[in-house]
Amino acid sequence: MLKRLFSRHQRSSSDSRRTDKTADGPVSLPAKQHSLTPESLSPGAVKVLKRLNEAGFKAYIVGGGVRDLLLGAKPKDFDVATDAHPEQVRSLFKNSRIIGRRFRLVHVLFGREMIEVATFRAKLDENSPANQTAPNTSSDQRGRSKRGQQNVSQQRLSQQGQILQDNIFGSLDEDAVRRDFTINALYFGIDDQNILDYSTGLEDIDKQTIRLIGIPTERYKEDPVRMLRAVRFAAKLDFSIAPDCAQPIFELGPLLSNIPAARLFEENLKLFLGGYAAKVFPLLQQYQLLEQLFPLTQESLSNNSVAQKLIDQALANTDQRIASGKPVTPAFLIAVFLWHPVKLRQQELQQAGLSPMAATQKAGQEILAQQRQQLSIPKRFTLVVKEIWEYQLRLPIRSAKRAELLVQTPRFRAAYDFLLLREHSGEIEPGLGQWWTDYQEADPSKRHQMAVAAPRAKRQRSRKKPRKPKTTSD
Ligand code: ATP
Ligand code: MG
Repeated sequence: MLKRLFSRHQRSSSDSRRTDKTADGPVSLPAKQHSLTPESLSPGAVKVLKRLNEAGFKAYIVGGGVRDLLLGAKPKDFDVATDAHPEQVRSLFKNSRIIGRRFRLVHVLFGREMIEVATFRAKLDENSPANQTAPNTSSDQRGRSKRGQQNVSQQRLSQQGQILQDNIFGSLDEDAVRRDFTINALYFGIDDQNILDYSTGLEDIDKQTIRLIGIPTERYKEDPVRMLRAVRFAAKLDFSIAPDCAQPIFELGPLLSNIPAARLFEENLKLFLGGYAAKVFPLLQQYQLLEQLFPLTQESLSNNSVAQKLIDQALANTDQRIASGKPVTPAFLIAVFLWHPVKLRQQELQQAGLSPMAATQKAGQEILAQQRQQLSIPKRFTLVVKEIWEYQLRLPIRSAKRAELLVQTPRFRAAYDFLLLREHSGEIEPGLGQWWTDYQEADPSKRHQMAVAAPRAKRQRSRKKPRKPKTTSD
């Protein structure tokens, strides 16, 4: 579809790599030539665009909303770009709140739907005196209250060129060039229903290419998370990363260590809980980014086909669960990623005399502490991760009382799924998983019989250290 539509608008390739705002205006794909209509959007997105337009502001759907619809997919969410400042957006929607410090924007809520509204941003102009005022917000232009016109916008760069704060407001064409990828810089407005393309977004959708806007190394240095985003979109859309955007990742990957832990964790959720984790994981490995996020996992995979199988199966299951609308917790995948490093350490600790449970707990603590140096995991998830690991030692002990208690705990299901994966990966003999499957399906009397007949698992204790001989003082 796009091929046919876009061929009429194709530019020469040198012309089409234009990425600065000084070049002539955007390519505008008229309504007749593409399939997007206001009906393609969510009712919430339409409301936001309409109200902003009625108040005299420009407003467009940008990013995944346009990109995914052009590709015939359902967008995850709708992002809006506007020339209204956050305070102005806030004052138009009761159901909204301003969020973010590094990047201030407004979340507008409609029931469970959330529309993210961002004010057009400009790049830092080192020659501009203050970077403190928005260029396009004269109140006479729109005749609105001065509230919200105080401009707190600012952009700060680290010494490595990383953007620490991105709040300089700008015009639409400035906004387009500071976006990450060409395919994410397409704008759709509901007034004229044209699609605006300021770089080569339409062409790159057609060519199935992830291409940064601007100079790749600079754009990655400004925001190293863009490396993860490149991989994520490549996996999600089945696109390839343009060679000049792929190459710098190998060298610049370590810059991810400058990203605040909380943001990296958020990005990690997007990578693995978007429904395409099985494609993301090998791509992260290919670009040497897995070692930036989960170095112990990467290490545990060398020559360990059992560890690889466990992860592959868990990623595939996660994608399936998401596809069928089942809930997923990041804790499960984290437990999987770190299981083999934990096991290795647990064995060492057991040899040093700790009981299996004490060794598992200590190994878990140590591995999570090491993991925290790269990507910190919120405590509400690490608690679950540790429980899943500890349950692996509890599940083999099946006296009637214990089995009945265990099966009723909130963590049982995840621990049981984890056990099944361990069996499928060949780490342990099959059998126990089936026993628990049957147990869950059995009625109370059958459960009792099963527990009585279950092989007795020995509760292992720590090896007793020989007592020191008492010293006599004669
Ligand atoms: P999806 O929502 O499907 O994950 P998306 O493209 O909408 O994909 P978002 O994270 O929702 O991604 O961001 C919305 C838009 O904001 C992007 O399409 C892009 O234009 C811009 N954007 C997001 N993150 C960055 C970034 N780190 N650097 C530059 N632009 C970004
Ligand atoms: Mg989005």
